[in-house]
Amino acid sequence: MLKRYLVIVIFACIPAIFLYGQVAKSPVAPDYTRLKQILDEAYHEFLTDSTGTPADYIPELATVNPDLFGICIVTVDGQIFCVGDVEHTYSIQSISKVFTLAMVMEQIGKEAILEKLGTEPTGLPFNSVTAIEQQSTRVGNPLVNAGAIATASLLDGKNEAAKWKTILAYYSACAGEPLTMMDDVYASEAATNGRNHAIARLLDAYGVMYDDPEKAVDLYTRQCSVGMTTKQLAAMGATLAAGGVNPFTGERAMQATNVPQILSIMLSCGMYDYSGTWSYLTGLPAKSGVGGGIVAVVPGKGAIAAFSPRLDAAGNSVRAQKAIAYISQHLNINIFDPQSVGVKQSN
Ligand code: GLN
Repeated sequence: MLKRYLVIVIFACIPAIFLYGQVAKSPVAPDYTRLKQILDEAYHEFLTDSTGTPADYIPELATVNPDLFGICIVTVDGQIFCVGDVEHTYSIQSISKVFTLAMVMEQIGKEAILEKLGTEPTGLPFNSVTAIEQQSTRVGNPLVNAGAIATASLLDGKNEAAKWKTILAYYSACAGEPLTMMDDVYASEAATNGRNHAIARLLDAYGVMYDDPEKAVDLYTRQCSVGMTTKQLAAMGATLAAGGVNPFTGERAMQATNVPQILSIMLSCGMYDYSGTWSYLTGLPAKSGVGGGIVAVVPGKGAIAAFSPRLDAAGNSVRAQKAIAYISQHLNINIFDPQSVGVKQSN
């Protein structure tokens, strides 16, 4: 009788043991309960914060509900923790720059990236023309508009349609789900894109455009108009955190050897002229987009993505920044902290 009872108890415990193993092995946080608690705290702490203004220089972006707010964490072992409006689709905008950079780095190599695009922060707004005039490389880095348009001009492909297809396939592999372009956003940006065309022409005049400037701007505008949810954005970040393998599909989306250089550029240039303060506050490589998304990568552990349309003067989402900084500080995941999660504390 007792034996039978023991067997029943052991079998009943198996799912619990299995579940415990799953949640306890989250590499991004001390434990599941703590992670979920901090995520919820970050959400409620900034839910009523209405600081900032949505981007309106791309008319379509001004039509988005400014109250939307969502946060997701995806770990490298495929766990997902979300709160808020995480299913809302918005345009990736400048976050796309990271992934086109990854593609071009695979095609031309790290040395050529340094030589042709550079890796220095401009300390100026993302669409600055002054930066082109001031910096000896003209382009600055691949995460400002000038650098990103130059990056697009370097992308190899049979023709424009083929290049666009490769971009979409690459981004989708990183997200682990098929992504598509938001036609309304593309049409809106293409109709109001004078500044980016001016930037491309200026770069061309300086001899640092590697394709027809019009074509490069069009490709860049398309990549900025790719739609995604906060869940998908977190998955793209987690792919970087996992050295290029998507945590859900298990497929290699990105070349592993380039990941450290990509994260390094994100840390120094990903938040534009706010990158220094961002790094000081979070210790995490990140990238923002004027659509309201930000993704921050915790190498080897996972990624945090947040979305909220109201932006600060640098063009970074106010609530997304605050939420990610809160999570980084409370989960102790600053990569420069010798005692950050995953590193043994020495006595
Ligand atoms: N597509 C936008 C632009 O070129 C991207 C800017 C951004 O997200 N910072 O202005």
